[in-house]
Formats: sequence, structure tokens, C-alpha cells
Amino acid sequence: MAPTSPLQTLPPTINGTPAKPRPSPQLNVQDVVLGNLWIKPWYPSFYPEDLIGRKTEKLFVCEYCFKYSKDLLPFIAHRDVCALNKDGPPGTSIYEDGPVRIHEVDGEDYKLYTQNLSLLAKLFLDTKSVFYDVTTFLYYLLVYTDPTSSPPTTQVVGFFSKEKLSWDNNNLACILVFPPWQRKGFGQVLMGASYVLSKREGRLGGPEKPLSEPGRKGYERFWSATIARYLVSRPCKKPVTVKDISDETYIVPEDVIATLKDMGVLERKKRGSAEAVVNKVLVKRWMEANGVSLKPPVDLDAFSLDEIEVEEEEEED
Ligand SMILES: [Zn+2]
Repeated sequence: MAPTSPLQTLPPTINGTPAKPRPSPQLNVQDVVLGNLWIKPWYPSFYPEDLIGRKTEKLFVCEYCFKYSKDLLPFIAHRDVCALNKDGPPGTSIYEDGPVRIHEVDGEDYKLYTQNLSLLAKLFLDTKSVFYDVTTFLYYLLVYTDPTSSPPTTQVVGFFSKEKLSWDNNNLACILVFPPWQRKGFGQVLMGASYVLSKREGRLGGPEKPLSEPGRKGYERFWSATIARYLVSRPCKKPVTVKDISDETYIVPEDVIATLKDMGVLERKKRGSAEAVVNKVLVKRWMEANGVSLKPPVDLDAFSLDEIEVEEEEEED
């Protein structure tokens, strides 16, 4: 039995109630020490057996570059000289809002870094995704500067990955906020950013499906809040279609319809070609009941994105 620590994280909770108990899989890493934090993995790891052994009591992971070691001394020696401790996370900053930044990193340019990030993420994700093929993905790192620590510490507390080319128009492949920083709204920031990026690219899509249970809950909250904000900001009597909502929010029509049904804001009424109408009073009530404010999780003015030129192909005669 591994020792426990006050810093050990609890299983994820959804809206304050514990998520369904996970099956207890055979964990090959019993505890992970990320910088100063002691975290309990949720799922078996993909760390190479020849480097960490078949079963590891404690795995030490650098919180700056995600290099790992099963031995304490090399870990301490590494942290003292880790280049990323001094230079900060790799990639290009595309978003900055107070203590939160988002860095875009190409897996091809930072292969070892993104592999090590993915290996750590696997401890908290029940997915069979291939973690070594990082070259076809972009990674968006959530970089957080904790103002309460002295001196303030800056580190990557979550990320999402995205295929550079997705046949299914997926705007996100995998998303994770590391357990010590969950339930602070960071997941909503990452989801918000993924939709801002897809709108900019004209990639009308959504996250890769099927979603995990925590993923589904997170997206339900994101989609509902985004749609609610859009609906209450519209002039009162102007009719709105599912296409209008989708065009504005870049949430695909099927997710818009499913979300409106789940929110319980639709009323069966025949109006023109429509079978149902949205009741705006119910939308406002839904926002109040769920503590959703008018402020979106990401600030559009905080993005610094290069212009994308969309080339229009000339028709040949
Ligand atoms: Zn390091």
C-alpha cells in the first residue's frame, strides 16, 4: 500500500458530487510526484517498462519539462538545471489573460516534450490513443502563474491536443486539466479556446467522439453556457434558427439541438417551419440555476493569433 499525503488528489467530482467510481485498474505507477505535488494516478501508465520497471511505487516527474525518473536523486539534480524552469514552457503564446496563458506547440518540433506530457496525461485518461505519434498533432498548453505562491510559480496545468488535419473536422482530440488544478474553470477555458481556433480556421466540428464521462459533462456545460449566452444577447423578437446558433458559436447543429433539449428550454410549438421554439425566460432561469454568467470563459481580445488567409480557388473554364 502506497503512503498517502495531504496533497494526494481525490477522484473527479461533477457538480460537487463524486463521479461514478472508476473500476480500480491495476496501476503500474502507484504515485506520481509532480514537482512538489504528490498525485495518485487514476489509470495504468504507458511509461516504458525498460525505464520505469513493471511496477513503480513512485515516479518523479519534472513539472517543467515532464521528464521522469523512478529515482529521487537524478530527479532533484535535473530540476536544478531544467532549462524550461528558466525559459518557461515551449511554443508560441496565443492567449494571455491575467495569470492564464495558452501556448501552441507543434508535436513535430517538440517531440520529446509532447511525448512526456502525453505520458503523464495518460495516468488520468482512460483512452487508448497513440501517445508516441505526436508529430501529427498540435498541443495547446494551459500555462498558469500562481500569484499566491511566493515567488509566483508558472507551470503547465493542463492542455488539449488537436490533429493538424482531421478528416472528421475534430477541433480537439484529447483534453486534460491535471488533478490539482481541476474544478477551477480551466477546462472551460481550453474548450473555449478550441472553438475560437476552429472558427478562425473555418473548421466546423467538435471534440473527437465518443467522449469520456468527465469529458461529456464538461462539454455539456460548455455548450449549454455558450448557447445560453448567445440566446440572451439577441434582440427579443428576432427568430433564431439552429443554423444561426451554430454559425455564431461554431458548435455543430447536432450538438446544439441535443444541448437545447438537455437544458429544457425548448417548447413544442409550430411556428413557420419550426417544430419547437426556445423560451428565453427558461434560458435565463437556466443560467441563474446553473450559476452561468454572461462572461465567456475566454476573452476574445486576449488572443494574439496571426491572420489566416483563406485562398479562394479560381474556377477554371
Ligand atoms: Zn525538467
